[in-house]
Amino acid sequence: MAETGSHHEVIVVGGGPAGLMAAGQAASRGLRGVLLEKKHLPARKLGITGKGRCNLTNTAAQDDFLRFFGHGAKFMRFVLGRFSSRDLVYFFNSLGLETEEERGGRVFPRTQQASDVVSTLVGWVKKTGVKIKSGRDVRKIVAEQGRVRGVVADKHGATEEFIRGENIVIATGGASYPATGSTGDGYALARALGHEIVPVYPGLVPLETAGDTAPMLQGLSLRNVQAGIYIQGRKQAEAFGEMLFTHFGVSGPIILPLSRGAVPALSRNQEVKLVIDLKPAVSHAALKSRISSRMHARGRKKISNLLKEFLPIKMIPVFLEKSGIDPDKPGSELTSREQKDLRMWGKELCMAITGYRSFNEAIITSGGVKLSEVDPRTMQSRKVSGLYFAGEVLDIDADTGGYNLQAAFSTGWVAGNSAAMK
Ligand SMILES: Cc1cc2nc3c(=O)[nH]c(=O)nc-3n(C[C@H](O)[C@H](O)[C@H](O)COP(=O)(O)OP(=O)(O)OC[C@H]3O[C@@H](n4cnc5c(N)ncnc54)[C@H](O)[C@@H]3O)c2cc1C
Repeated sequence: MAETGSHHEVIVVGGGPAGLMAAGQAASRGLRGVLLEKKHLPARKLGITGKGRCNLTNTAAQDDFLRFFGHGAKFMRFVLGRFSSRDLVYFFNSLGLETEEERGGRVFPRTQQASDVVSTLVGWVKKTGVKIKSGRDVRKIVAEQGRVRGVVADKHGATEEFIRGENIVIATGGASYPATGSTGDGYALARALGHEIVPVYPGLVPLETAGDTAPMLQGLSLRNVQAGIYIQGRKQAEAFGEMLFTHFGVSGPIILPLSRGAVPALSRNQEVKLVIDLKPAVSHAALKSRISSRMHARGRKKISNLLKEFLPIKMIPVFLEKSGIDPDKPGSELTSREQKDLRMWGKELCMAITGYRSFNEAIITSGGVKLSEVDPRTMQSRKVSGLYFAGEVLDIDADTGGYNLQAAFSTGWVAGNSAAMK
């Protein structure tokens, strides 16, 4: 195996937001560093975030911000205490990238281009003196007597090289969207050094439903609806906003956060149900009397026409087929049982959740390097000296809204600075 002559004070493995931030911070504090990236270019995933617009962070107050991290909140409190969302906005603004805030406190680059975030970040890292070596697939981290010595990397899939380093930051990301380079390598690297990996599964992911109702409604997008996830019959979470039916089930802005509760429950073989309320502003009783009075008042009209007042057009033939109601039947002949069916479709459309989509479609990875084995004040491993972690490789994940990128940038900032301060 070839050994490169150079010796680095810090080696960062992975060129996503966490790795770039760690490398740049370490170098700006005087460390000679190299960043090894598996793909031909760094930050492939960052370049597609926020549907190409990059939701960088969120302006939510710290306590609200932390709520979106679930079990990772305690860990993140230390990390955000060192590098907050305000610090991140200031960081990019001072590099010339202007930002703007949108609904829900979400922060985007003013140009609305994720590629501008990538070029600003990569440009800054290069200016700090970090050498970015792409096409380097790190296979192993060498440690002796409890401290890191260097890494073994495949160079463009051909030769293997050993690169010496005093500090090593693992910032290889999670396992979602593997085409961007995040293939879960960091879990094996960390495990080989004695770290425990909390089981990983897709997070913020579309859900699969039983039966053919969702496929029949494929393409129907609902706005201003309330959806709840029930696990073993108990409501676990709910969300208000937009969702979409697909050929396999459900997706869209309110489904992704709800998946954070559904996926672990499915992994435990628990019963998971999605209940959709198309009319959250109308009570069951009000809808019941509205249906009954409308059917009575305009009773000679065909039911298929009357339903337009109660259901989205695309849902009407599906409702009629599933309820076994003749579309030509006059409204006045709708039985009380059929009226109840209609009310339940409006207020409590229930679907059994049978599965979730793969890592290929997941926005983040849940699980990862166990947090109790990493010091949140420094991001240093509690097991191997000179080893640091940053970003999604850790067992940290949050809702949509800019929280995950902030976590990557903040943990990267802390790791880079701590390596330099040692
Ligand atoms: C479609 C999509 C949209 C998203 N939008 C948003 C959003 O708008 N806002 C938000 O907050 N979050 C968003 N996220 C989540 C966010 O992108 C991630 O949480 C974040 O990129 C994680 O950063 P990271 O640096 O830890 O890892 P990554 O960005 O995954 O980067 C890891 C890097 O390590 C490299 N690597 C992996 N293994 C090796 C190895 N063995 N050797 C060398 N290099 C290696 C990879 O090639 C990759 O470049 C989105 C995610 C997706 C998939």
